[in-house]
Parts: sequence; C-alpha cells; structure tokens
Amino acid sequence: MSMTIQIKNLTKTYSGDGVVTIALQDVNLALHEEEFTAIVGPSGSGKSTLLQLIGTLDAPTAGTIHYDAVDVCKLKGKTLADFRFASIGFIFQQFHLLPTLTALENVMSPLFPRKVGYDKKNRAQELLDWVGLAHKQDALPSQLSGGEQQRVAIARALVNRPKWLLADEPTGNLDTSNGEMVFQLLRKYQREHGTGIVFVTHDRHLASQTDRRIEMRDGGVIADTMG
Ligand code: ADP
Ligand code: MG
Repeated sequence: MSMTIQIKNLTKTYSGDGVVTIALQDVNLALHEEEFTAIVGPSGSGKSTLLQLIGTLDAPTAGTIHYDAVDVCKLKGKTLADFRFASIGFIFQQFHLLPTLTALENVMSPLFPRKVGYDKKNRAQELLDWVGLAHKQDALPSQLSGGEQQRVAIARALVNRPKWLLADEPTGNLDTSNGEMVFQLLRKYQREHGTGIVFVTHDRHLASQTDRRIEMRDGGVIADTMG
C-alpha cells in the first residue's frame, strides 16, 4: 500500500516581543508517496513552516501529522531521531554542505554516527555516481559550482534511502538550467525508488511539471490541483 502523510488541523504560531505571528492556520492535507507534490505560494505564506513541521524539525502549536499510522508529533528523543533518519531526507535552498569535508565525506556524513547494514563508503559513492559527480568525490564544496553543490546535498539527503524527500526551494539559488537539472534528478529518483517528494518552489515552470500543486496563501491552502 502506498504511504501517506496525513496532516490534520495543523496550526503554527510564533510569539515574541508581544507579537504573535500565525504562520500556519488549520491546514488539512494528505500527501501521497506516488505523487510528486509541489508547494507554491508567495513569500511568507507558510511553505517553509509547513515543510519543517512535516519534517519533524519543529513541533506544531495544534494539530497532528501521521506518517501512515505513526503520530510523529508524539515521538521524542532517540525515537524521533531514528524515525527521521529512516524516513526523511531534506534539501534546502542553501546547500548546507560542511566546508571542510569533501563531496564524498559530505554524502557520508549522516551515516557517521549510525549503525547501518551496508558499507557506508560504497553507498555514498553509489549516490554521488547517481547524481553524476563520481569524478568530484574528493573536491571540497568551495571547488564545486552551485549546481554541483546541490547535487552533493541531494546525494547526502538520499544516502540512507529515506521514504520521503522534503525539498525547500532547492532550485532557488540556481540558474534555470541547473534548476532544471536538479528538478529532473528528483523526478527520476522518485520514479526509480517510489520515494515521496514534497517540493517547495517559486518556479511556476517547474511546478507545472509535477503531479500535484498545493498553493498556499497567508498560512492556509487556497488551491490543490492535480495533473
Ligand atoms: P514561506 O516559506 O512561505 O516564505 P515561512 O513559513 O517562512 O513562509 O513563514 C510564514 C510566516 O511565519 C511569516 O510571516 C514568517 O515571518 C513567520 N515566521 C517563520 N518562522 C518564524 C520564526 N522562527 N519566528 C517568528 N516568525 C516566523
Ligand atoms: Mg520559505
């Protein structure tokens, strides 16, 4: 059966200096692994907040998020860390590579503190090869182009073969052709591995090539279009 993320009545507020910001208000959504889903909407509409909550990086003010039967808002500590490691990969607009590590070491880095049932270096090389950067495995991030750095970050996000990949404007710092390349890599990965992909973007052209577009405004979902 296909995996689903079920989001119910999700609300997130931030308060500070006596000001309360409602970043998300009563969002209800079901995300399906077989759909490449884009989330679009103007700056400040709550896209990153939604992705962070889905990714268990932050906790909601109200509402629930279930990955199939698992209520992730109830997970804590090591259980949460283990769940996230097995289930979720992230990529961001900023590539967040560690500057003193090589491309290969960056891809391996999520595995450093973990016990896994496969050879870490072989796995990292497999992913680097898959993003077309086997020949750059010893390069430092500063020696790579933006598009190459993002491909290293994609390999790192996928190194443990997570069930879901959450991408927050991964093409936002790239030119059109590198953005297209990154997008097509994600598309290909989803088709090959059935990994659920949630892709936040400002790029209407890329969003139009996904299976589903969720449009946000002022912390809510205002449209949800398939095809
Ligand atoms: P988007 O990704 O669509 O640009 P965000 O989710 O980043 O939107 O932000 C939604 C709203 O929440 C904005 O008004 C933003 O200023 C506010 N916000 C986001 N993160 C924080 C935070 N850590 N503290 C206070 N306000 C925040
Ligand atoms: Mg954002």
